[in-house]
Amino acid sequence: MLDPLQTDIKFLKGVGPARARILNQELQVTTVRDMLYCFPYKYVDRSVIHRIRDLQDGMPYVQLKGQIMHFSMEGEGRRRRMVAAFSDGTGFVELVWFNRAEWVTKTYSCGVTYLVLAKPTLFNGRISLAHPEMEVAAEASSQPLDMMPFYHVSERMKKQGFTSRLMAELVHRAFEQLGQATVPETLPPYLLQRHRLLPLDEALHRIHHPATAAALPEAVRRLKFEELFFLQLDILRYSRHRQMHTAGFVFSRVGIHFMKFYHECLPFELTEAQKRVVREIRHDLGTGRQMNRLLQGDVGSGKTMVALLCCLLAADNGFQSCIMAPTEILAEQHYASLQQYLDKLDVRVALLTGSVKGKQRREVLTGVADGSIQLLVGTHALIEPTVGFLNLGLVIIDEQHRFGVKQRAKLWTKNVRPPHILVMTATPIPRTLAMTVYGDLDVSVIDQLPPGRKPIRTVHYTQTHLAQLYDGMRHQLRLGRQIYVVFPLIKESETQDLRDLETGFNDLTGIFADFEVGMVHGKMKPADKDAAMRRFKEGHTHILVSTTVIEVGVNVPNASVMVVENAERFGLAQLHQLRGRVGRGAEQSYCILVTKDRLAETSRRRMQIMVESCDGFEIAEEDMKLRGPGDLEGTAQSGMPFDLKIAHVVKDRDLMQEARDAADALLQADPTEQLPQHAVVWRQLALLKKRQINFSAIS
Ligand code: ADP
Ligand code: MG
Repeated sequence: MLDPLQTDIKFLKGVGPARARILNQELQVTTVRDMLYCFPYKYVDRSVIHRIRDLQDGMPYVQLKGQIMHFSMEGEGRRRRMVAAFSDGTGFVELVWFNRAEWVTKTYSCGVTYLVLAKPTLFNGRISLAHPEMEVAAEASSQPLDMMPFYHVSERMKKQGFTSRLMAELVHRAFEQLGQATVPETLPPYLLQRHRLLPLDEALHRIHHPATAAALPEAVRRLKFEELFFLQLDILRYSRHRQMHTAGFVFSRVGIHFMKFYHECLPFELTEAQKRVVREIRHDLGTGRQMNRLLQGDVGSGKTMVALLCCLLAADNGFQSCIMAPTEILAEQHYASLQQYLDKLDVRVALLTGSVKGKQRREVLTGVADGSIQLLVGTHALIEPTVGFLNLGLVIIDEQHRFGVKQRAKLWTKNVRPPHILVMTATPIPRTLAMTVYGDLDVSVIDQLPPGRKPIRTVHYTQTHLAQLYDGMRHQLRLGRQIYVVFPLIKESETQDLRDLETGFNDLTGIFADFEVGMVHGKMKPADKDAAMRRFKEGHTHILVSTTVIEVGVNVPNASVMVVENAERFGLAQLHQLRGRVGRGAEQSYCILVTKDRLAETSRRRMQIMVESCDGFEIAEEDMKLRGPGDLEGTAQSGMPFDLKIAHVVKDRDLMQEARDAADALLQADPTEQLPQHAVVWRQLALLKKRQINFSAIS
């Protein structure tokens, strides 16, 4: 049977090839069905008519009812405009059109009653409405719609003659295409009932043409649920499939390496959280299924030790493991500490980065290939095809939360069977996001810091306190400590930011003339960057001026002060990461957040949260409450199988959980995907996945 909704959009009346191309490119609309899924982003309640007397600058769209008193041309050159004085008996406003004088006077006349829809703005001290939408009041009153939908139209679409009104018309035609038929349901009836959802047909009609504002929430909920349900269904289905079909190595033995290390070499007692996580991982490793686990733990919670214990388990069972870090510095740091830990053990550990060359590199590659190296630490160099392991059983990926499903898959080719994978991150990822980006991973959390840490003291200074700040810094430098000074570097304003950084560097070089000041930023060549970091690490430079390149994992225990300039421009999670760079030695450490004097209320509140809390998860939650999911959302979106049009990964977290449970139950009840009542579901999922492939081919 031919599905009218699958008709190519170019065949919809009023579209044609040119408009179809724009709809494809700008809104990913390729079929008539897609048109129905272009949802309005807002509505104007046309049952409300505002009085001119009550208008104020900054009000949203308002509707007025009145008459044009007279027209006049005003202004010169590019400012030349047609102005109509408009009155409803309570006052006057100006309706304004640029470049359309002739059209305006031909279309509208004095003495006719119009309904006018526009956004009031203050112009030359008077309220005016630019390019209003107008209808003759008598005609408008016959319209059944009270809530007028507004559709997103990009700049490029506008240039091609698209308007919100045209979009509304196209949606209308898409419904017409169906004739008497309803939009076929995508969810089985029992799910609609169980989750109290509107039928799809009704939800779609309502979202485009709600009779009243009160009719909207149910329609929105149904459509959000559908979106989240299919997202979760896809993720869960993928991970089930993988679990069923991917056998993993069984690490059944706890042997000499693990035991000896645990009882003789452990430099400290593990925290309860570390013990629990090691148990969780050991359980995974014993099941015979391949492990895919995300280990979350705040900065300094001791993830490295957990990683090491896992590697020892692998070695006990005759397997090699590798630990992958995002930068050379971090890889070297890990290598140095692991070597120290493994001093008394008969486990050979080696380092492989881009800088390991010549004879040394050949030796490492040989040792990895013949199995004499049991633990390899390195950068992305580890996944290059030239690195051949004898029997890689475990891969640990550190501090890299953008290492997505695809990259992980690449590791599988390193062995006949895929190795177990542990991803470690200090970025607190709220549960809802973990459900999407890492939806195919199991999650372990280290929610406890090792005992005896001196909390970092955090202070908020504004520009007027600079003298105090410099005094404090000088005091620390005289005590022999080192200092980080971080500037924001945000893409859109890169040149200005880079200038700020350089100015900051020059200023500090002048102010602290008796100390060494270094600089590192992302625009430098990797080798120069590494050299600058190394000079700081080895204590040759005392102050390191940098961008957030130092954000992850760097360990310089002698650094006791973190100064963050323009702190209001950073996300809180990022500030927390930066703060985690200090407080690694025995000394009292400080984090100084410098902002301009006058701060917006939310910025002030955010600084206050940083001053008051040292808990990464708490900070991330607060941050999301204050400013939405921001960066995290970006991360989530980029890792997701489908784009979300209407649901929101954070705001709709409860619905996401509900949809996930529903998807999970469906898969449990119908593991072979054969129950007739689920046919609609698989059909829709296939459709969504096909769409996805089309887009990735386009972009
Ligand atoms: P992160 O989780 O940020 O990677 P690390 O693994 O680098 O943290 O550990 C931070 C510091 O804490 C290291 O110096 C490590 O030796 C120390 N550490 C880890 N676990 C414990 C523990 N249980 N007790 C005391 N110190 C610990
Ligand atoms: Mg670490």
